[in-house]
Amino acid sequence: MAAGTLQVQNLGVRYGGVTAVEGSSFEVAPGECVGIIGANGAGKTSTLKALMGLAPRTADALRLGEVDLARVKARHVVRHGIGYVPEGRHVFGGLSVRTNLELGAHSRRWDDQAKATLEEVYTLFPVLRDMRERLAGALSGGQQQMLAIGRALMSRPRLLLLDEPSMGLSPKLVGEVLDVLQVLRGRGLAMLLVEQNAWLTFEATERCLVMQNGEVVMTGRSADLRHDPAVRRLYLGL
Ligand code: ATP
Repeated sequence: MAAGTLQVQNLGVRYGGVTAVEGSSFEVAPGECVGIIGANGAGKTSTLKALMGLAPRTADALRLGEVDLARVKARHVVRHGIGYVPEGRHVFGGLSVRTNLELGAHSRRWDDQAKATLEEVYTLFPVLRDMRERLAGALSGGQQQMLAIGRALMSRPRLLLLDEPSMGLSPKLVGEVLDVLQVLRGRGLAMLLVEQNAWLTFEATERCLVMQNGEVVMTGRSADLRHDPAVRRLYLGL
């Protein structure tokens, strides 16, 4: 197992009497982008929230490399190398693009390395450099999505969790998100991608977990799953 691998064994998420995830086990290696697909309510978002410590969880193992995530409080998770792009972006609309990005580095000191990371984010998303003094709330939906991803990268994560990054984006912008994910993969980032857009899911990932009623019912190579009639019909509505 590679040093920075995410290892999840027998993950469960329960909200009171509602079981959202049960018995879910998987790994994500550095430089690997793994997709999670499944119908509405299958437990995809809950899986990501559980990794962030934002949903009530149980697990036999929950590790990122040497870090035992089960013992890490939600407010310290970012410091241990996990970046999160939640569904719906959640940028701070009343603050500038630059301030939103700087806030993404809150878990670190604002030093030369943080400034270099900001430059890297501007290079990945030139539109954010152009608009750095604008209020985030004045950006288009697609630009806000870029900002949400850029902000998550400011903490220099080893693992990036992305929840529906293509929602509401034009096909051109979905293509831009794909380009960025491929650059990040090449840099050795591990990624877990929850996505309704089948094209983006299969282009961006090499493996996918298929979730149904809170359980991982299938794991397969994306190249195979994209042609699987049952997967296309049941989980992707194609
Ligand atoms: P979607 O694609 O609709 O976002 P999902 O696969 O991400 O679905 P989750 O959002 O993880 O699914 O939800 C899994 C189950 O847990 C659903 O039955 C949902 O109603 C339930 N659930 C999610 N959040 C809560 C909560 N805070 N309290 C109670 N039940 C919840």
